[in-house]
Amino acid sequence: MFLFNERQEQIAHVVDPKASYSHWSEWKWQLDHSVKDIETFEKLTGISFEKQEKLEIEKTINKFPLLITPYYLSLIDTVNYKNDPIFKQAFPSPSELIIDAFDMEDPLHEDQDSPVPGITHRYPDRVLFLVSNACAIYCRHCTRKRKVRDINFIPSKSMIIKGIEYIEKTPRVRDVLVSGGDPFLLSDDYLDWILTRLRKIPHLEIIRIGTRIPVALPFRVTDSLVNMLKKHHPIWINTHFNHPREITPSAVESLKKLADGGFPLGNQSVLLAGINDCPHIIRKLCHMLVQHRVRPYYLYHCDFSEGLSHFRTPLGKGIEILENLIGHTSGFTVPTFVVDVPGGGGKIPLIPNYIVSWSPGRVILRNYKGTFTCYKEPENYQPIHCDSDCQKCGISSIHNNPGKYPDEGIAQLLSESNNAFAITPGEILSMDHSEQKEKRKGKQ
Ligand SMILES: *Cc1c(COP(=O)(O)O)cnc(C)c1O
Ligand code: SF4
Repeated sequence: MFLFNERQEQIAHVVDPKASYSHWSEWKWQLDHSVKDIETFEKLTGISFEKQEKLEIEKTINKFPLLITPYYLSLIDTVNYKNDPIFKQAFPSPSELIIDAFDMEDPLHEDQDSPVPGITHRYPDRVLFLVSNACAIYCRHCTRKRKVRDINFIPSKSMIIKGIEYIEKTPRVRDVLVSGGDPFLLSDDYLDWILTRLRKIPHLEIIRIGTRIPVALPFRVTDSLVNMLKKHHPIWINTHFNHPREITPSAVESLKKLADGGFPLGNQSVLLAGINDCPHIIRKLCHMLVQHRVRPYYLYHCDFSEGLSHFRTPLGKGIEILENLIGHTSGFTVPTFVVDVPGGGGKIPLIPNYIVSWSPGRVILRNYKGTFTCYKEPENYQPIHCDSDCQKCGISSIHNNPGKYPDEGIAQLLSESNNAFAITPGEILSMDHSEQKEKRKGKQ
């Protein structure tokens, strides 16, 4: 059972006088009664905006539309809404129209690193696969604002087939991140079809699904959805909770269904100014997540997408939050803080510095309490010789596909089998797929 409290009952009745619990907890009813304009928002929340304010919000909506499920709207604190984390994530702010000097339409080069529409192949062994451009709510901080709701980007069946074919003919891809938009807004049957096609690919080891459904529309997690997904294990699911207030009884119910379905659950939060840029909020969020079997995975620095500058914090805020978590709480409660750097450089993890100094044989480390320790390096360590040919390796034979993982990036500089002593930025940033393929071929 999902919760249906008094406030939600009131909202349901204003939206639809005949509504009862069975309507409220029906995901299609929620979508059919989503709030898309200021007037309906005012009617349902009792909040009213000044005329001038309304004009500005209207202007924002024209560029980045408004969409809130009655459920997510019911979580807004209508008295103190200006500081409310739910309101701020879902209700347009005229600040979104400010385009900062460094803002970009596609800061992460998801389009440039795209071998076929809908697929971004940036990392050696995994791809991002956008299968839907619909979402249950439009998050104001969305990094893919330009894609979500873009009528020029509706992943058609033929486009999805081309994406699947790309994965089929690219044996290096062992992990696909199915995202969007929200993949759970597709019908069970359609998603089943996509997952069935993906599962048939022998080299694809795992499938991941990125979704904000447990936050925005927990009722979508129906028994039939879970049963369908279970057929395609191993499936990992990543959610997107940003604030403890989003972990409601209904959200918890949806997480329980997913965890009971055997899907390892992770969470990707975005660090947002005025919403969760506080160690106490993130700690509470992470503690609540693990209580419901969700492992905090990433804490993202807010991207350089257009109109997000008012949400961006200094990088130091993320480090300060980690400093408050690492050592202070269970290791698996601490997310990795990442900044997805503009220009397609990808995710870069940032952590506080724990190495204080170094000499031949001694490393000075500090812990979370500020204690300094000397780690004495072993004197008799014999480095194993590795030329990345696992078949010939005397220590262990881990796979019979030598050359599957050629040394790349900084790892090249550490590798004994590679004579490179410098990498030039041109090579690192080159995301041209044909060129990378040629390079790889040349190495084997
Ligand atoms: C985030 C991301 C992935 C997945 O990265 P992980 O660090 O493995 O979670 C893959 N491709 C793209 C383009 C991404 O942005
Ligand atoms: S659910 Fe995800 S993709 Fe959709 S608007 Fe929110 S952040 Fe963007």
